[in-house]
Amino acid sequence: MEIINTCKSCNSKNLQIFIKDVSSFGYKMDVVECKDCHLRFRNILLNEKEIESLYASSYFNEIQKDYFFSNQELKEKIFKNRLQIVNSIVSKKGTLLDVGSAMGTFLEVAKKDGWKETGIEVSEYASEIANKNGLNSICGNTSMIIGQNKKYDVITLWDMIDHAEKPLTVLDDVRKLIGENGFIFVETTVIDSAMFIIAEVVNTLSFGIIKNPLLKGYPVHHTNYYSQQTMAADIEKAGFKVVKVIREPFNQEIFSGTKIEKILFGLIESFSKFIHKEIVCTIVAVPK
Ligand SMILES: [Zn+2]
Repeated sequence: MEIINTCKSCNSKNLQIFIKDVSSFGYKMDVVECKDCHLRFRNILLNEKEIESLYASSYFNEIQKDYFFSNQELKEKIFKNRLQIVNSIVSKKGTLLDVGSAMGTFLEVAKKDGWKETGIEVSEYASEIANKNGLNSICGNTSMIIGQNKKYDVITLWDMIDHAEKPLTVLDDVRKLIGENGFIFVETTVIDSAMFIIAEVVNTLSFGIIKNPLLKGYPVHHTNYYSQQTMAADIEKAGFKVVKVIREPFNQEIFSGTKIEKILFGLIESFSKFIHKEIVCTIVAVPK
């Protein structure tokens, strides 16, 4: 583990602590904000061994079980919606690389729809499940497949970029892997959303007594806590041009929490639509 003292996006040293001493899954970290480009990120960088243990089977089976093992129908609905976004922009079905493909649910939906699927997934546990289901999933990271002289028509990063220790490196790799007429789809939850803003206000008004909703948004599994603007900035920095931004509410059925938390979450997400502050942000970009 390493402490980060400069901004991960613009290299500025002008950092301010946003939340101090966050304890998350055995790690202690600060959430910091760059005063120059406004990127928020955790101030620790994990090494490969630490990442491996963070994404062992318990991540899928316990921490995110509602997300990864929710009923098949719901899961398919979510990934079909993502594919619909892709198909609404790209008319010809060609090669598709899903970065952070987990257990391959999106790969499966895309394959059934006529895409030639490849997944890349850092978790051996998850990648093996995809392979067992007959899907083309490689265990490793994007840097491994550069130099194989292969370019993809579409590259998707669903809820992945903020899990990467070095998101800019991943985006640089993606730039090398995308075909000249290709499209990338980068989706993540963003902090300029009703959910994050309300959690922040509740924390401030309660003088830090009710800080659980705020802390839930800053787990150690996320490295950068992007806003729509800071995510677009990183994508542009890697050599892309943003062509479309889609904001949507998060599906409360796959939110991991107690019954009351789920109800509250659902209410806030419904409300977010009216003020255009939905938490899920998908950025579509093309090579510059
Ligand atoms: Zn910065």
